[in-house]
Amino acid sequence: MISFNVPPFVGTELDFIHQAIDKHKISGDGEFTRKCSEFMEKKFNAKKILLTTSGTSALDMALLLCDLKPGDEVILPSYTFSSTATAAVLCGARLVFVDVRPDTMNIDEEKIERAITPKTRVIIVMHYAGVACEMKKVLEIAKKYNLKIVEDDAQGLMSRYDDKILGTIGDFGCYSFHETKNLSMGEGGAIVINDERFIHRAEILREKGTNRKQFFRGQVDKYTWVDFGDSYLPSELNAAYLWGQLNAADKIFESRMQTWKAYRESFEPLEREGLIELQRIPPECHHNAHMFYLKLKNLDERTKFIKFLRDREIDAVFHYIPLHSAPAGLKFGRFDGEDQFTTKESERLVRLPLYYNMKEKDRNRVIEVVREFFGQN
Ligand SMILES: *Cc1c(COP(=O)(O)O)cnc(C)c1O
Repeated sequence: MISFNVPPFVGTELDFIHQAIDKHKISGDGEFTRKCSEFMEKKFNAKKILLTTSGTSALDMALLLCDLKPGDEVILPSYTFSSTATAAVLCGARLVFVDVRPDTMNIDEEKIERAITPKTRVIIVMHYAGVACEMKKVLEIAKKYNLKIVEDDAQGLMSRYDDKILGTIGDFGCYSFHETKNLSMGEGGAIVINDERFIHRAEILREKGTNRKQFFRGQVDKYTWVDFGDSYLPSELNAAYLWGQLNAADKIFESRMQTWKAYRESFEPLEREGLIELQRIPPECHHNAHMFYLKLKNLDERTKFIKFLRDREIDAVFHYIPLHSAPAGLKFGRFDGEDQFTTKESERLVRLPLYYNMKEKDRNRVIEVVREFFGQN
């Protein structure tokens, strides 16, 4: 079976994990956590990056930092993972879902403004497949209505929009290092804090409501409970794994991109014949080869396609069921305007196997079987 995903592993991780054990530091905020944060802050040109226990907890932190009141509204796409939405729900907010653009499957920036009410406080954008949302327009709207922007960049680590790294454009950015993402640490994530005024509060929030971070920096002489908080620190064992991954980030990117480009070149003829649609990469977006997807005619053809591949030992998978039609989506939110593309396009989309170090032989087999489905061999 050619798997849909294989978690990234480069080999150096084990040694770093050993080092953490030898140094008797396996809980959070040790040397590896510090190294990972500083490495990313420098590489991404970010003010502050804090590791978290997951992408979901990074989103939870970001929404808590937005300081929402019950009944406030948060705008987000419906075509996303539940974590994007549930962070806002935990803060007592109402969800306002906005349609996606069919070419990138990102929130349609032209449909955001009409969803704004006097209660709107935050726009959450999710950069699907690591391809950036139209951030110029989103920033313009946020400024005009004084809204915060949270970037769910779980999929877009190291992707860029013009010359800016995703996650560093809005007020807060959220990364995931789940085993399905480009870089991993088992379970883990990070929050990017782009407005300095929130760094202090974020550190307290992450450390069970204490000012322990300040204490360790020698800024206060004892630490104490100062506000509400939670524990968002990942273990050093996980951070050590991530440290191995970060040091190989360029190699992992190259490997994924090679597969992505091979798929792209092989399937362009099918697109020209009108048999499939490929994702569009807008010129200002530089993506990270997180995902390769095709769009088929409709749900029926997609079901046949997935079965055809599975019968030939290839695991291809569909993606999100739109949140607004899910039980919790109906309970916590509303869809603004007409669902022109979200449902229809999500039913046509299928993702192909793509992971670090995918064998050329396996990739070529996927290409061959896809072409065979369309009677092209
Ligand atoms: C993976 C993912 C998350 C959640 O990340 P975890 O680390 O699994 O909690 C959130 N949003 C999106 C868009 C994702 O793809």
